[in-house]
Amino acid sequence: EEWKDRGAAVSLKREVDAEGKTVVRSVKKGVRDFSFGRTLGEGSYSTVFLATDRQTLREYAVKVLEKKHIIKEKKIKYVNIEKNTLNRLTDHPGIVRLYYTFQDEASLYYVLDLCNGGELLGVLKKTGTFDVECTRFYGAQILDAIAYMHSRGVIHRDLKPENVLMDDQMHIKITDFGTAKLLPDPRDPRPPENPSTLTNPPDDKRNASFVGTAEYVSPELLTDKAVGKPSDLWAFGCIIYQLLVGRPPFKAGTEYLTFQKIVSLDYEFPPGFPPAARDLVERCLVLDPTRRLTVEHIKNHEFFDGQQFGKELWRTKAPRLR
Ligand code: ATP
Repeated sequence: EEWKDRGAAVSLKREVDAEGKTVVRSVKKGVRDFSFGRTLGEGSYSTVFLATDRQTLREYAVKVLEKKHIIKEKKIKYVNIEKNTLNRLTDHPGIVRLYYTFQDEASLYYVLDLCNGGELLGVLKKTGTFDVECTRFYGAQILDAIAYMHSRGVIHRDLKPENVLMDDQMHIKITDFGTAKLLPDPRDPRPPENPSTLTNPPDDKRNASFVGTAEYVSPELLTDKAVGKPSDLWAFGCIIYQLLVGRPPFKAGTEYLTFQKIVSLDYEFPPGFPPAARDLVERCLVLDPTRRLTVEHIKNHEFFDGQQFGKELWRTKAPRLR
């Protein structure tokens, strides 16, 4: 019952019936429809494999979650949040797309867009820092993806360069929606199927004892335990800073010290930091979330002067990394 496969993606297959009429059937994919290849990566609760659809020969990343482990670690709700969120975000090139979900006795399977270019963090580590042109391009792609998910009522809550993957064109795809917050979908007039997936479960202790990377947490989460769309734009400001400098603005020896720096806005710009980028970062890293720049403000900020957003941005060739 816990694993009920609600809203799973299926593919549509065109067939000609006995009378010569074309019929469209939906086909549920299963484990046997894929041939599994090498391991792409491992998470705390999952292993991600390269897999090929035997029919179409199209390659995917398949995330496999072991049910026993998920139950033992009490992560069922988060696994469902990730799936429900991805099922809402199927229509943007900057978000990892979930194509199919299925299960067998032992495991859950998520068939996802393959991101061959690794994590943005790894790419950044190779070059050390990005120049202004690269920062503007990748900043614009991340912002465009944030705009889309916010328009669909999704707050990511854990944006950071590890959660930004790169495809074979070196365009970005945001991933890791296991800690996302789902607001009622502005485009969906129907009541949600299961209201409990719309908010974090009441036993959610992550806000109180934050686990994971502390560096991108917004001050309002630390002081009021309140998270909204502005929290993602705080993280966006941290990412822009990090792309240009090579490290995030708030970093200390322990999580506690990092949190202290965040709530007292204790960070500095190194000499030579580009002035337009500095102004943008300063207006994103504002303690009061109601006074922070919104997505629309950021798109119109001088740092993004002349930058395309929307469809055109995703047709643009990625700049050479520098
Ligand atoms: P944790 O659960 O510990 O936070 P995680 O969120 O990185 O880790 P997964 O989402 O399962 O866990 O991903 C594990 C690894 O697999 C990632 O670090 C990444 O390197 C790789 N990976 C994940 N998704 C894809 C994808 N769509 N394409 C290519 N590689 C991927």
